[in-house]
Amino acid sequence: MFEGLTGRLGDIFDKLRRRGALSEEDVSAALREVRVALLEADVALPVVKQFVAQVKERAIGQEVLKSVTPGQQVIKIVHDNLVEMLGEGADINLNAAAPVPVLMVGLQGSGKTTSTAKIALRLKTKERKKVLMASLDVRRPAAQEQLKILGEQTGIATLSIVPGQDPVAIARRAMETGRLEGYDVVMLDTAGRLSIDEELMAEVAAVRDATKPAETLLVADAMTGQDAVTVATNFNDKVGITGIVLTRIDGDARGGAALSMRQITGKPIKLLGTGEKIDALEPFHPDRIAGRILG
Ligand code: GDP
Repeated sequence: MFEGLTGRLGDIFDKLRRRGALSEEDVSAALREVRVALLEADVALPVVKQFVAQVKERAIGQEVLKSVTPGQQVIKIVHDNLVEMLGEGADINLNAAAPVPVLMVGLQGSGKTTSTAKIALRLKTKERKKVLMASLDVRRPAAQEQLKILGEQTGIATLSIVPGQDPVAIARRAMETGRLEGYDVVMLDTAGRLSIDEELMAEVAAVRDATKPAETLLVADAMTGQDAVTVATNFNDKVGITGIVLTRIDGDARGGAALSMRQITGKPIKLLGTGEKIDALEPFHPDRIAGRILG
């Protein structure tokens, strides 16, 4: 069975300790384990390198080597550094004039539509917001219908479906309806694609320009590992994201995608999708993901 990093490091330091004081080389050997473990957890290579360099500096700088329990201290530094790099979670920013537009972007199958409804439900139940949801996906005929069904299940209003309108026209109509009918928040669920393409990015950028969203949330599947980083980089460069919703955290992914996306985009992970059920959405706690990455 896979042994977590904490256990592996414990074993190494136990062996070393029998020999007496730790040397800098001993710490380097332990850090090689850290490097392997992070790569196994699907953390992107540049992020792994940065992480290991930071831990090494802290471990040596803090005179860990002379302490009685150097192993424990190195493990603590690894954990603390990971938590710091993962950053704090953050609430959905609704600091704008109502109706506040929230744009949901991401690849098809990432959990975007489900997350749209999950967030709407959370805003409704926890913050008593009046939320309107609109699907801007005109390519998949079932997409607008899917959001409507989720709206019916959760008691959240969805924009009426008008065939033939393009995404920008639907987004404008959603905002107008939001204004006229006194909604607090308008959630805009954009179309996904199987892979990143220029047309998708141009469409999302046009919707962004037409609605000036307070949040542009990238929905990314934790199970896709390193691909999630490419997706996040692309959306951030071309559309500009304000936060990340990481889905399928209930699966067996080790969570390295969270660390890479946060480091590479600099944008906070705001929420975690923890299941298929509509209430399976949780705030992001860095220590939980750190524990998962370290095993
Ligand atoms: P979209 O194409 O990005 O809009 O993806 P959907 O919202 O339609 O989700 C695709 C599938 O993933 C659906 O079967 C969802 O129930 C499922 N799904 C979404 N989020 C999660 C999650 O956090 N955990 C799990 N296990 N399944 C999820």
